[in-house]
Formats: sequence, structure tokens, C-alpha cells
Amino acid sequence: MRLIFLGTGDADGIPALGCRCEICRKSVYSEKNRRTRASILLDLGDYSILIDAAPEIRYQLNRYKLNEKYINTVLITHWHYEHWIGIIELHSWDRKKTQKIEPKFTIFMNKYAFHQYNKILNPFINATNTWLKERYNIKVVEEYMRIKLNDSIEIFTIPLDHTIPTTGYLIHISDTCIGYLVDTGIELSSRTIENIKDCRDLIILDVTWYKKEGKGHMSIREAIDFVNNIKPLKAFATHIGHKNLLHEELDQVLKHKTNNVLSAAYDGLIVRL
Ligand SMILES: [Zn+2]
Ligand SMILES: [Zn+2]
Ligand SMILES: [Zn+2]
Repeated sequence: MRLIFLGTGDADGIPALGCRCEICRKSVYSEKNRRTRASILLDLGDYSILIDAAPEIRYQLNRYKLNEKYINTVLITHWHYEHWIGIIELHSWDRKKTQKIEPKFTIFMNKYAFHQYNKILNPFINATNTWLKERYNIKVVEEYMRIKLNDSIEIFTIPLDHTIPTTGYLIHISDTCIGYLVDTGIELSSRTIENIKDCRDLIILDVTWYKKEGKGHMSIREAIDFVNNIKPLKAFATHIGHKNLLHEELDQVLKHKTNNVLSAAYDGLIVRL
């Protein structure tokens, strides 16, 4: 199985529009410092799971030559624009090809995101094309819900610490568990922490900020403490903003302070498990 970081940026992306900060300026010359909005694809060969659908989803899938890969399941963390607007982009998938496999994308989201889906995306979908709505099979998830996708894949939902209700996903694939904790701050319930501790193979973490700037995201210090407390085998920082460090510097600090457990992800990074 392989995990592809399609995007690793925060809501602004890097370079951010109109920004002249050091990171945005330097990103022009450094690929690892350019970040599209955060999303990952889990490629299990005959089954693929997309977590979040960024505005750049079409560009991301084409860029990493994944445009022919069929996505079986989409997991949406929350309805902030940059995490789910790409759902609409999925409509253009070759219908003849995909309908042979499965006519619809199954998309999991929490009830708050579903409410916004009905308010914002559904009217747009209905107004655009009647066949468009046939493409989406939305399933609403509750907190701490176990969902079996097939014989070897099970997902478990956990509530995260963000400005709107956000769902983290712990994905159990045979004996391996991958946790996607984006967007989140550190104020998680003890129940959630225990669940994350049971998912130690790989944790993907929101490290938006250099220093704490508010609630709902992690700073470098908080992410380091979190990883040293949870003790996963491997962890990656994503959802990285332009108010953070340059990639190489960030990667170095995270590795140094976590005994090489936490690294900074970059767009296009492939992790084999
Ligand atoms: Zn975000
Ligand atoms: Zn900037
Ligand atoms: Zn958010």
C-alpha cells in the first residue's frame, strides 16, 4: 500500500496570493516549499481512499499520474472550503469507465458538513446538471463510529479540536492503522487520545503554525509534544502554512525533537507501508 500526499498546505496554500513573506517568495524556487491544499490518497492497489478533496484535486491527481485511479471512498474531515470543495471536481471522472466499477463516489462526512452540503453544494449540483447528483452517495458519520469498507478496511471516526466540528479518521487496513488528524488543535478528549494511541503505525498531523496563533490548529511545539506523548512509529506534519518555517528547516526541527518520528510532508511525498 502507498500513501500519497496530494497537498500539504493550509487554507492559503504556498505561495499565498498577494503575499511577499520570505516563505512565499522562496517557494518560487523550491518545489518542497510550494504547497497546494492538504489532502491524501491511500492507494491499496485495488481500492483507493481519498481524504479531503482540495480545490486543486484535479491538478493534484493529474500531477501525480493518478488520474486513472478509481477512488472508491472519499472521507471529508469538515466543511471548511479548502477541505471539500473539490468534491465537485470529481464529477468529471470518466463515467463510462467508472460506471462499470461503481456509478457513485461514496463520500463520508459528519452531519455538520452534510448540512452545509445540502445548503451550498447540492443546489449548485442540482442547478448544473441533473446527472451530476447521481454521482454522489453521501453517508453521514457520527463520532466514534466504526465503519467497515470491505473485508480488510475499517475506519473509525474521532472528534477533533477545531473551530467547527471536525472528524478525524483512523483507518485500519489489516494490521496497519493510519490516523488523519487534520484540522485539529491539541484539546482532544481522553477518549480520543486513547483511540489515537491504538493507531500507532502512522499519524498525519495538522502543524499549521510556527507559534500558537489561536485555537483549532497545532504549532510546532504542540505537535512535537503531541507526538512525544502518543508515541506513534511514524508521523507526518501537513496543513503547513506560510507563517511556518521553510520546509527543510521545519523537517529538521520536527525530526530533531521527536527522535526522527515526526517529519514534514511535502506535496508529492509517497510513503510505502
Ligand atoms: Zn484547513
Ligand atoms: Zn506568505
Ligand atoms: Zn479547517
